Amino acid sequence: MDCIFCKIAEGTIPSNKVYEDERIIAFYDLNPQAKVHVLVIPKLHIACADEINADNSGEIAYIFEKIPQIARKAGITNGYRIISNCGDDGCQSVKHLHFHIIGGEKLSEKMA
Ligand code: 5GP
Ligand code: ZN
Repeated sequence: MDCIFCKIAEGTIPSNKVYEDERIIAFYDLNPQAKVHVLVIPKLHIACADEINADNSGEIAYIFEKIPQIARKAGITNGYRIISNCGDDGCQSVKHLHFHIIGGEKLSEKMA
């Protein structure tokens, strides 16, 4: 499967990592949309939020357990926003489930 984020998870495509363990990886977005913009992905390929089920939801719970630590490590100290785009109307461009963590500055009150 030709998936950029699987390749980042395998290490075949380099990334600027914030955190990594056996289940997840967090790295800086190539095209940041806030002062701090980190992506968190499960190493397991899940296409998007539509594909979360009872068998793989443990990976998502684990990501949310780790997000506070990842945000702190990225230098975020005053709150952040978590975004996951899904499908065409959600403007998802990479079809491997990921969570955008944005912060490091006051964000827009509008989300869309
Ligand atoms: P989406 O639009 O699917 O929610 O978000 C995909 C994100 O991945 C975009 O913000 C884009 O900048 C980022 N991105 C795409 N390719 C790469 C890459 O090879 N490396 C990194 N670090 N970020 C990427
Ligand atoms: Zn993938």
